[in-house]
Amino acid sequence: MKILAIGRNYAEHIEELQNERPDEPLIFLKPETSVIKNNDPFFYPDFSTNIHHEVEILVQIDKPGKNIDEKFAHKYYSQIGIGIDFTARDWQQKAKEKGWPWAIAKGFNGSAPISSFFPVGDFGDIGDLNFSLKVNGETRQQGNTELMLFSIDYIIAYLSKFFLLKKGDIIFTGTPKGVGPVEIGDRLEAFIEDKELLNVEVK
Ligand code: MG
Repeated sequence: MKILAIGRNYAEHIEELQNERPDEPLIFLKPETSVIKNNDPFFYPDFSTNIHHEVEILVQIDKPGKNIDEKFAHKYYSQIGIGIDFTARDWQQKAKEKGWPWAIAKGFNGSAPISSFFPVGDFGDIGDLNFSLKVNGETRQQGNTELMLFSIDYIIAYLSKFFLLKKGDIIFTGTPKGVGPVEIGDRLEAFIEDKELLNVEVK
């Protein structure tokens, strides 16, 4: 299983980090060892002092595919979930300055808490889904999939040009505005529409 992730897919998040708007999807990977399941806790790593939450809609691939046409991309997934793309912003900043990859900043142990997956139809139109993140009961991030710069089907078609997509692969589809630091003791709850699907404590 691999995790493919897209950065800078929501305009207001690009602005908050003063990044450039991409003209094609910005792609990175997170290893299998980044996954946290079953609402297990996230352990704050000692190598960073600036871990940010990024709540994102997840898509799980159902069957193998490469060079997928965008108009057939919907045939390659039927389940979605929600996850947090934890980011060591200090390491990412250093990587940006030096032109280094984001492997550590985005791929460290436990950097990908994910929910269970549910049929797309449980939530309505995948192109118009509200999702959000609360930290200690306070809403910090709110997004809607219609605000994506690159749609889920476009992302799948794009990724499949370079990576053979396999059953069980997970795509992180980008975070909306409102990212910020977490601290030990925080409780993070992620929602699609009004359903709480993920609940992670920072330890
Ligand atoms: Mg992200």
